[in-house]
Amino acid sequence: MKPPPFEYHAPRSLEEALTLLQGYGEEAKLLAGGQSLVPLLNFRLARPAALVDLNRIPSLAGIREEDGRLRIGAMTRQRTLEFAPLVRDRLPLLQEATTLVGHLPIRTRGTIGGSLAHADPAAEYPAVVAVLDGELVVRGPAGERILRPAEFFVSYLTTALRPDEVLVEVRLPMAPAGSGSAFEEFSRRAGDFAIVAIAALVQADGDRCHLARLAAAGAGPTPIRLQAAEEILERDGLSDRTLQAAAERAAELVEPESDIHASAAYRRQLTRVLTRRALLRARARSQGNPT
Ligand SMILES: Cc1cc2nc3c(=O)[nH]c(=O)nc-3n(C[C@H](O)[C@H](O)[C@H](O)COP(=O)(O)OP(=O)(O)OC[C@H]3O[C@@H](n4cnc5c(N)ncnc54)[C@H](O)[C@@H]3O)c2cc1C
Repeated sequence: MKPPPFEYHAPRSLEEALTLLQGYGEEAKLLAGGQSLVPLLNFRLARPAALVDLNRIPSLAGIREEDGRLRIGAMTRQRTLEFAPLVRDRLPLLQEATTLVGHLPIRTRGTIGGSLAHADPAAEYPAVVAVLDGELVVRGPAGERILRPAEFFVSYLTTALRPDEVLVEVRLPMAPAGSGSAFEEFSRRAGDFAIVAIAALVQADGDRCHLARLAAAGAGPTPIRLQAAEEILERDGLSDRTLQAAAERAAELVEPESDIHASAAYRRQLTRVLTRRALLRARARSQGNPT
């Protein structure tokens, strides 16, 4: 099908985009890579009066390192993140997750900001932002707001973004020295959305675990930080037995629902299995062993 008619605007600055959004109220949609929005238009599941295209605003794209964080513009293409040396060296979890987003043509157009704003519960980037407790920088007529993942992701395909706001940047802490991370997911075919995905980051301190971070995607309406499972690792270390205990706890913490892709029980089981796998790989990487 073809999309319903809409007006098209291609502003050259963020200010111009914000003015357009204000004028249209709830009637406009921002266009980033179009990889989620255009199918919605074509199926007529979205019928905006206008599209405000962000692709001609260069200041919205780019990756830089500042104060121990990566600052990533919302319009940065997924393909750019996949190959950026800064991401590979400073935040390998983000690079690994990116390789699992859809297929090459999707990553070539798709943006990190578009994925976060779309807030598919099975998407990789929301889980990465959740596990790192990153900052989502939002600009609107009243100025800038900085939201944490727990505030930003509200429910299925729903965020705290207001209709007159633009997600402009994501700030993610870089991987601490001596840490290891892994992103594990299960999908029916390579490139499909995950049924369940797990992001893990651990930092060992001798026999102890100095820091553990875990988050799940596809196991609830939003990405879920698995804090009670993290606490097991930070308290009891990174032995095989503790990793298994954390995986069991993770499976209790998620809130999966049954749908056409998988039952809730299957998603819970995947959470258990993938958490253990992700932790095994993250632990090995933290010890300098490539996996
Ligand atoms: C076949 C297929 C397979 C896919 N597989 C996966 C997958 O495995 N994992 C995955 O994560 N994704 C997958 N995707 C989705 C893909 O990653 C999209 O790129 C992503 O969801 C949306 O990014 P986009 O830049 O294309 O945004 P768009 O489609 O342009 O926009 C998506 C939504 O976000 C809003 N938006 C965009 N940018 C902003 C902004 N800066 N501020 C506020 N609102 C904004 C838009 O208005 C729209 O509502 C798949 C897509 C397809 C078609």
